[in-house]
Amino acid sequence: MQITKENNIYKVKGTKDTYDVNLEEKTCTCPHFQHRMSQIHQYCKHIMAVLDKTQNRDQETYKKIKQYLKANPKATIQQLGKEFNKEAVDDLISKQEINPKADVSATQ
Ligand SMILES: [Zn+2]
Repeated sequence: MQITKENNIYKVKGTKDTYDVNLEEKTCTCPHFQHRMSQIHQYCKHIMAVLDKTQNRDQETYKKIKQYLKANPKATIQQLGKEFNKEAVDDLISKQEINPKADVSATQ
């Protein structure tokens, strides 16, 4: 994801659309966040991407991946790779700290 900063708003460009992330309020203009994540007080992948970029701390990412897996025990490797830094996910798997399922239902 491409991230640019304008004033205090981060513009996060996904596969199709660009969304505005307000890091102070931890909000995003994407529909997923507006309709779902904000209700359950979770961050969408755009907010996570901005956090990753601004914090740039692997340990934080590792912690978040583990927390995410706890909250979403059915999350697959592919899902985790989309939500988080894929290298961090692979690293945790290789260290056997997490053991997510492979996404067998993934289609092209
Ligand atoms: Zn979003």
